[in-house]
Parts: sequence; C-alpha cells; structure tokens
Amino acid sequence: MTTQIKHYIDGEFTTGSGDRLITVTNPANNLPIAEIKCATDEEVLGAIASAKSAFQTWKETPVSERARVMLRYQHLLKEHHDELATILAKETGKTFEDAKGDVWRGIEVAEHACSIASLLMGETVENVARKIDTYSYTQPLGVCAGITPFNFPAMIPLWMFPLAIACGNTFVLKPSEQDPMTPLRLAELFEQAGAAKGVLQLVHGDKSAVDILLTHEDIKAISFVGSVGVGQYVYKTGTDHLKRVQAFAGAKNHSVIMPDANKEQVLNNLVGASVGAAGQRCMAISVAVFVGEAKEWIPELKERLAKVRPGLWDDAEAGYGPLISPQAKERVLSLIAKGKEEGAECLLDGSEFTLEGYESGNWVGPTMFTKVTPEMTIYKEEIFGPVLCCVESDSLEDAIELVNASPYGNGTSIFTASGAAARKYQHEIEVGQVGINVPIPVPLPFFSFTGWKGSFYGDQHAYGKQAVRFFTETKTITARWFEDDIPSGPNMTIALK
Ligand code: NAD
Repeated sequence: MTTQIKHYIDGEFTTGSGDRLITVTNPANNLPIAEIKCATDEEVLGAIASAKSAFQTWKETPVSERARVMLRYQHLLKEHHDELATILAKETGKTFEDAKGDVWRGIEVAEHACSIASLLMGETVENVARKIDTYSYTQPLGVCAGITPFNFPAMIPLWMFPLAIACGNTFVLKPSEQDPMTPLRLAELFEQAGAAKGVLQLVHGDKSAVDILLTHEDIKAISFVGSVGVGQYVYKTGTDHLKRVQAFAGAKNHSVIMPDANKEQVLNNLVGASVGAAGQRCMAISVAVFVGEAKEWIPELKERLAKVRPGLWDDAEAGYGPLISPQAKERVLSLIAKGKEEGAECLLDGSEFTLEGYESGNWVGPTMFTKVTPEMTIYKEEIFGPVLCCVESDSLEDAIELVNASPYGNGTSIFTASGAAARKYQHEIEVGQVGINVPIPVPLPFFSFTGWKGSFYGDQHAYGKQAVRFFTETKTITARWFEDDIPSGPNMTIALK
C-alpha cells in the first residue's frame, strides 16, 4: 500500500485530479512508498489564484499576529522533530541523526522568522530639509514561489516560506518530486499553527508546474535551489518574465589542509564533510587540497573513510544511507569509472558496495581518489556522491589560485593553526562561505546563505536580512507638515526647500 501524496491548495489537502503519476520510492530498495498525481495546470493556477486572494488580507494582518503564527509553528516543528526526521529519513535514506539535523537547520530559520517585526523595521531621518522628514517601510511583494531540491526536503523549504510569509507575502511551494512527504508534513503543521487559508500552497509535480510559476504574472518572486542547469533555466526564465529570482545551484567545495593543522581534527572533519549524507550536500567537501607535508595524512584519511559503513536510516551505526535514485547511482558510478579512465588513482573504491538484503538499493561505498588534476572530469563536475578527490599543492598561494579558478563558489574551508594563513585565505578566496577549522560553514539564519559565482544566480541570498530584502519592497516617504509657514510661489528646482 502506497501513500497518496496530497497537494495543499486553497486551504484543502487534496490528492488532485492529475493523470500524470510519479512514484516515490524507498532509496534503500527502490520499492514504491508513495504516489504523486502531478498537479494539473488548472490546479497550479488555482493555487496561484488562491494565494493572490489570500494576500489581500494577509498583508493587512498585523506583524505581531504574523509573528505569533511563526512562534506556534517553530514550537510545533520542535514537538514533531522526531516524527519529521523519521518521514524524511524513510524517503531520502538519510540516517535518523542526519535527518534530524536537516529538520533542525530548518527550524532555526522558522525561529528567526519570529522576530519579523524588528527585521522589517525601516529607516528614519528627521529634518532632511527644513521641517521635512524621510522614513521608509518595507512592504510585501505579493505571491512568491519556491522550487526545492531533494537533498534537504525540510531545511530548504523552511529557508523559504516562513520568512516570505512572515514578511506578509503568500507562497506557493513546489518541492522535489523525489521526496514530497516531508514538505507535505511541514504544510500540515503550518496549517495547525494557525496560518490563514491560502497563505501557503503546496503543489507537487515537475517541470510543467515549475514553468507555470516562472511565467505567471501574479508570481512576484521565485526562490530556487537545485542543480546548475535547472538553476540557470529558472533564473533566465523568471527574470525574462520580470520577476525577482534567487537561484542557488550546484557546487564543488574545496577544503585546504595546511601542514600545521590539527591532524585529528582534519581527518575526522574530512570524513564527515565528504561522505556524510552520501555526499548529497551542496556544501559537502568534494575536493581536499593537501598543502606540502599535509599530503602525508592521505593514507590515514583513506583508512578512516574505509571504516564508514553505509546503512539503513534506522541503523545507529550507519555512516550514511543510499543515494536518492538509481539514476543518481548510475551517474556517480560512471563518474568514478571516468576518474579511473582519466588517470586518477582510486585509493578507495565504493562502486561495488551493496547492503546485504537491500541489493536493489542505490548504494555506493566511500570512494577516494588521489592524483586528481583540474582537467579531469571528476574534478570539474559536481559528483553529488560519497566521493572525495584529493589534490596536492606546494603552497597556500597555489591552493588559493586553484580554488579561485573553480567556476563554483558555494563553500570552502581551511584547516590551519596559523591566523595569518587563515586571514589570507578568508580575504583572497573567491567563495561566498568560508570555514576556518570548520568544514561545512553553513551560516545560522541571522546571517544569510551566501554562495557565489556559478553556485548562485541573483543578488539577495537565502534567509537572514538578505531574504527579508528579497521578499519585500522598500517604500520611502518624504513628508512635510505645514504650520503657518506655507511657502509663497512655486519651487522650480528639485531641491527640497
Ligand atoms: P534539480 O535541479 O534536479 O531539481 C530541483 C527542483 O527543480 C525540483 O523541484 C525539480 O522538480 C525541479 N526541476 C527539475 N528539472 C527541471 C526542469 N527541467 N525545469 C524546471 N524545473 C525542474 O536538483 P536536485 O537533484 O533535486 O538537487 C540536487 C542539486 O541541488 C545539486 O546540484 C546541489 O548542489 C543543489 N543544491 C544546491 C544548494 C545551494 O544552496 N547552492 C542547496 C541544496 C542543493
């Protein structure tokens, strides 16, 4: 028996009437667990129309009331933390602890949305000219839309709709069709938190639903997270239709290891950051750059990676789970094969790994290449699997040059005991999120998630102050109130007098 996935349109949870079906499978054995009837065009249009109508009252709802919905929501998310993580782990294959982390990083954004009143505060200056004051307000845009990837089905939707809605917008979410059950539960809890009807809409499907959102005149802003090709398409199509777009795309994150770093910390951090979540994280470390003598740690890194055992979501000893789909596994295996073909040395090869009793699942064991060069496909392409590429470098300068030559700029880290080296790295590196002795530097929600270069298209980033700017317009008011000093004659200049 598979679950029928529900859309959330105009305040109703409904399986919809679409005849195009998508089967959601358990990545550990590829057996079906749920079925989606893709939203029809009429259903997507209905969701947009309902969100537009809800905007008229939601934007007038006092900010403190909007904040109270977020307060109840973050509380409910915490109450249901384990339940959400279980749903998430079953449909993604993530280990339970990692699934809890996925939910938690989303809860943190919902918590931050509770302080929306102070985040929305404008600016004021009195007496900009004689008896003239200027002040600004931030006002919501209207209907915003979110298109999210499979790899963080709780965190990434929660990056988007709580803040957008707290700002006074209404929101249409189109989550990944590969793991729709977690976003559905997020929507149910949002309703339970007291969100007004129509404020959040959830439509399931694929490109056809996305295309309506990208081109519909009532959608004012698009938030996207996903792969590079689709991110570019979303950015170009959305902006072509005169919308605001923030599109977060793929990555190839480097970690630079200086010989003065703490070896124990480096090795433990590299293991978790490279193969954790089966490498399906946009901030995973996929390239380790060993500077000078640090390369002597490579054999020990291999030994530690070899000890990581993939397993089922509820196996407390498992290091990570399966890849999301057979297609993802096939892609990763073909890249591993390409790495060998192109002359990289495969020190640890997880291509043949299977889990006993779950042979039909999308398993790939930890894999590690050395002697990787920038011309190789495994260096250039985002593998999105449990594969670490090791590169050697003679100096910090050379390592910086290598990282800066990458077309991506999502995240990077440096491991060192030297403040001077860390300072040089943070200043010169052309990457938007830098960790110093921190492998995966995903900022907390009072900052923003600031990927650069080919990892991001747009200007205002996810969550934090930048997201509040993204989801609002600024209205600037210049006011003069006369007493008995009404000027005689017109002011023929642009100057305020
Ligand atoms: P994806 O691009 O395949 O899908 C993302 C979303 O776009 C899904 O909702 C999907 O239905 C939709 N989509 C897919 N193809 C489409 C098309 N042709 N036209 C319109 N919409 C389409 O991405 P994915 O495989 O789900 O996620 C993995 C990717 O996301 C990786 O590349 C990863 O680096 C990236 N990612 C980036 C960040 C970041 O913050 N930069 C965070 C998480 C994931």
